[in-house]
Amino acid sequence: MIILDSILNSKFLPTLKVCISLKYSIGNRFSLSRLLFVVLRRSIYPSMRKLLLLAPVLFVLSCKSTAEKEENKKLNKLAEEYVRLGLTIGQYDGDFVDAYYGPDSLKPKQEAADDFPKDSLLASANELMNDLRSLAHTTTVDSNKIRANWMCDQLLAFSRRVRIYSEEYESFDEESKALFGVVAPVYDEDYFKSSIAELDSILPGKGNVNDRFQKLANKFAIPKDKLEPVMNAAIAEARKRTKSHYQLPANESFTLELVTKKPWSGYNWYKGNYKSLIQINTDNKIFIDRAIDVGSHESYPGHHVYNMLLEKNLYHDRGWVELSLYPLFSPQSLIAEGSANYGVELAFPGNDKVKFTKSVLLPLAGLDTAGVDTYFKALAIKGKLNYARNEAARGLINETMSRGKAISWLKKYCLMNDETAEKSIDFIRKYRSYVINYNYGQDLIKSYVEQNGGTAQTPNKRWDAFGKLLSEEVTPASLVKTK
Ligand SMILES: [Zn+2]
Repeated sequence: MIILDSILNSKFLPTLKVCISLKYSIGNRFSLSRLLFVVLRRSIYPSMRKLLLLAPVLFVLSCKSTAEKEENKKLNKLAEEYVRLGLTIGQYDGDFVDAYYGPDSLKPKQEAADDFPKDSLLASANELMNDLRSLAHTTTVDSNKIRANWMCDQLLAFSRRVRIYSEEYESFDEESKALFGVVAPVYDEDYFKSSIAELDSILPGKGNVNDRFQKLANKFAIPKDKLEPVMNAAIAEARKRTKSHYQLPANESFTLELVTKKPWSGYNWYKGNYKSLIQINTDNKIFIDRAIDVGSHESYPGHHVYNMLLEKNLYHDRGWVELSLYPLFSPQSLIAEGSANYGVELAFPGNDKVKFTKSVLLPLAGLDTAGVDTYFKALAIKGKLNYARNEAARGLINETMSRGKAISWLKKYCLMNDETAEKSIDFIRKYRSYVINYNYGQDLIKSYVEQNGGTAQTPNKRWDAFGKLLSEEVTPASLVKTK
């Protein structure tokens, strides 16, 4: 509009007026561009020609950018509603909001009601989804389409979680599809038996595979008074490795805390402004490999880095307010847990885990290195058994497995000891189908990185593809497509 005003206010106006009268006198046979062409030919100001030739294009662009601005405004409003709704659900469901660092103005103004407002929460989620779907359908701006579709997927999870909170359940697969956007593959007992046979062939001693694994693992339990220095050393190394590939915000930092009486073994609480609180549960014995896991999974390049990249690139740089809320039971968790698990291999590829454990962590913990190569080999095979926990969760949620059967399954196929199996059942009871995010999520992330040229032979490409993935709104469906 500014461009047209400047033309109409110029000395050129009289000629333009003549032409406009001409257009009206001969009807609509002349288009606007034809009209301007006539104006140009009659013009006594040739220097204006360039500007006028561009005028129709600029006019269209100007209208387009006005429409885009309106659409962005509308999308930002919907994003604010999305955050408000998530925070309102979090007033009731204490596990729903994992992190929020957005403006206080989006926090609920009222105290939580006595009764859980299931119906009104579901209605709000539906209304928002409809608005976002229609925007996604009509927009011509790629980033707006991505945002709208991403929020729709997240909202579908909000609705499912609201129903779960109201004790309205579906099957394990239906639940994981709605909450995390995917259905994890099912593996039968034979699949796990082959990994157990593999372990049988490498573990020292004779007899029950789990007992032999526990005996080996116990050599690498970190003494309680050494936990903090060992964890800090592992995190420092993971941070150094990550920083050699990514430029992290200058003020980023984390605090490490040892806690007890939790259903999980470690947790990253992202506080915003590039700060994380990392908690390690010391209820059970903590083995040396867990230090590397905490170093990478909870912090670098895992949860801490993922949250920072989203905050920096999308929330601060692009103003996408929806990212300031991290709802735990949502597709975002598939990306978060999958990338955090994949990040361990990224930061400590190949034999690096063993090398670093031998040269730094075991001496710090005052433990001997004998048997550590076999231990890490066994852990790699045990990693494949991670899918067995999904089957225990599937059985418990679909009520096809009793608690007792699930415990013996976890001990047999996940090589858990009594205390970790009990803890795992507590975890499944609380987080339900969330367990698929760790293994299936990791496989999907790995496959995405490989599809983008990142392999063990091309480590830089691996870091690049991974960093890109952590800096965007990615839907699980798009990852399944690339697999
Ligand atoms: Zn995690």
